Amino acid sequence: MKHIPHIEIILPVFNEVENIQPLLRELDRVGLELKDEAKLTYLFINDGSADGTKELLHRLHRDRSDIRMIDLIHNFGHAPAIACGLEYFDADIAALMDADLQDSPQSLVQMFQAWKQGAKTVVAQRGKRSEKGRMLFHAFYFLLHKTATHLPSIDFGTHCLLDRSVVDRLRRLPERNRYFPGLVSYSSGPIASIRIDRNARFHGHSRVGLLGLLSLAITALVSFSSRPVRLVAIMGLLASICSITAAVVFVSIKIFTEKAIPGWASLMTSMAFASGIQLLCLGIIGEYIARIYDEVKQRPLFLVDRVFNLKDKTRSEVA
Ligand code: UDP
Ligand code: MG
Repeated sequence: MKHIPHIEIILPVFNEVENIQPLLRELDRVGLELKDEAKLTYLFINDGSADGTKELLHRLHRDRSDIRMIDLIHNFGHAPAIACGLEYFDADIAALMDADLQDSPQSLVQMFQAWKQGAKTVVAQRGKRSEKGRMLFHAFYFLLHKTATHLPSIDFGTHCLLDRSVVDRLRRLPERNRYFPGLVSYSSGPIASIRIDRNARFHGHSRVGLLGLLSLAITALVSFSSRPVRLVAIMGLLASICSITAAVVFVSIKIFTEKAIPGWASLMTSMAFASGIQLLCLGIIGEYIARIYDEVKQRPLFLVDRVFNLKDKTRSEVA
């Protein structure tokens, strides 16, 4: 019998009781559309819901063999719930999406076609956004892509389709401050993207919220870039150089003109010089801290795509 690829849809849920049935209806429709090409199953990660989500999922899981679920002991947050889903994932392809219908279930068909054509990582590039605070998102992406290294200039979140090989590599990243799109980029070769408009939430309000997004933005900037700290050192160096130039000017005014105010020149010069040196020292200390952070992240030094004619040490099967 022909092996058809198994897609496991990973769905983190926190208080989504009203959204689960409409979501499943849409995903089942996609499953029907793909029924000759792929097998679809669902992996719900219940992230400490307290609104009946847990009970509903238990019921659904009892009635349907294509639904698997994991109950976390309490609420850990979106990123840890996804990390849990990837840990327990067991299929050929992982599809990640939010459970509030903001990520269009129908896009799975397009993503799967891209996978069939050889793409290992397919992400939903965000087109139009229909949520509030759009300007902030644009500002964040602008800043991130200007400062961070190794990130593709694609605006994507967690809605993506990953080949098993990419999930295996993602599982090797043990860091705790997790900016998911950054980790996906780090673990992937070329990334295929499909432009998809992000819908408004089907029911309820955002569980992550503005503060959560702000904290994620800081995680993204700090864990994928040490440029801000380098900027501090450069500013310190520039301030020190400027203060030396200013000292020359002030001393010249004192020697060659009658305009000098007693004490002002020496006071200004020493203040500018001292603050420049302080900034420079902070930058140098920051550089060490950035490197310590890099070491504790424990990211693998390299990630192998395929090996030829020798055994792959990182995977159980040979490519
Ligand atoms: N979520 C979760 N744990 C949380 C917060 C959110 O598992 O602590 C889930 C939530 O149920 C949804 C997805 O993560 O399926 C995205 O959450 P939300 O819609 O609040 O994020 P936003 O779209 O506002 O960024
Ligand atoms: Mg949402």
